[in-house]
Amino acid sequence: MSRFATRGIWCGSVEAGRTKEEVSAFIGRIHDAGFNAVFMHLKGGDGLLYWPSDAFPQATAPGYESFDLPAVALEECRKRGMQFHAWLIDFFEGENGAAYQAHPEWAMTNAKGQPTNTEILRGSRFTGLWMCPARRPGYTDQWLVPILQEFADRYKVDSIHHDYIRYPGDVAPDQYCFCDDCLVNIPKWATYCSESFPNEPFYHELYDRGYLESHWEQSPRVLPQNWDSIGRESQSRFLLEGSFFHGGRYDLDYFFYLYRTHWITEFARLAREAIDPSIAISAAIFKNPVHSGRFIGQDWRQFSPYVDIAIPMDYRDHFPGSFDTYLALLSETISKQKTWARDFKSLLIGVAINFLFFEEDRSASSPDPGKLHAVAEVVANSQTDGIVFFCEGHLHQYSLWNEMQKVLTA
Ligand SMILES: [Zn+2]
Repeated sequence: MSRFATRGIWCGSVEAGRTKEEVSAFIGRIHDAGFNAVFMHLKGGDGLLYWPSDAFPQATAPGYESFDLPAVALEECRKRGMQFHAWLIDFFEGENGAAYQAHPEWAMTNAKGQPTNTEILRGSRFTGLWMCPARRPGYTDQWLVPILQEFADRYKVDSIHHDYIRYPGDVAPDQYCFCDDCLVNIPKWATYCSESFPNEPFYHELYDRGYLESHWEQSPRVLPQNWDSIGRESQSRFLLEGSFFHGGRYDLDYFFYLYRTHWITEFARLAREAIDPSIAISAAIFKNPVHSGRFIGQDWRQFSPYVDIAIPMDYRDHFPGSFDTYLALLSETISKQKTWARDFKSLLIGVAINFLFFEEDRSASSPDPGKLHAVAEVVANSQTDGIVFFCEGHLHQYSLWNEMQKVLTA
């Protein structure tokens, strides 16, 4: 009997093979190591789908029109009594992906109206495309939700697994989205002027309270009178840095961040509505929803009506300090996550294998396996519902299959 009820692993699609025999051997190896849940990558960050999609054949990865990978992998998991989860990337798409090629207007843009692939990250052009979660009609309702629905109708997996259910973080955490749609919709969503009296400033009749902000409840017009003529860059700057009251505190960023968390949570709701109710939903999420709500629009505490299984990515590189510091912070963080995730059906702790070996040569074929055992010990002591490792490829890279089996069966 393992210390972990759920023993999961994220794994690739291409690595799983392209014949029934290859996939059987792949799943068999994972099973023999002691895992009982596979999270297979089936919609990529490049926009490719690893199944023969009827609704979006233009997005199907070459070679997967004729080979039904999820059907075969699901059958191989079922044979062995294992769970099979479909890991699907949400708002991160490739610049050569079918969605962006067909609908460049669905991409997130910054104040200049430029998409994320114009950003520079660590000295190089950022080549990923982030799609706007808010735009309607747009990527969310015309592409992503229908794709998840088709998948769930075809394959009775254990869960549809959200990833990248958020705004971009490493590339400019608060410069998106100011697409043409969001520039119109942020003021509407936040009611920055009345629809019946769009030009009326609605100044307060008294201003008899000590603080200007004390007069908020009559909903004055927030937009400056010259709003329509100041241009998109100035409009964007106002929506991020401006004031609710002319002359008041610079507080519009509060509404900007709420707008973003609203649309991410709204997507989680739409996905739940579209997906066969017999199939659970899981999500890879960041470690602290209070922080990720502000920086990437992911306040995952709000997901609980629409997501069953919370899987925070408690990776070493998401924590500062030495390995021992990581273990201490991990323990502290998981105890908080148990509170944040209390309305979910289950909480699984995500651990990245490669980042455990920060101090060591990353190409080392035999890193200190004690680290794997130490992190597993912390997770086991936390009394959650299980552990999910990232990823299968790292077990090969670091030759850790045998150690992993000891970790999972200890
Ligand atoms: Zn937008």
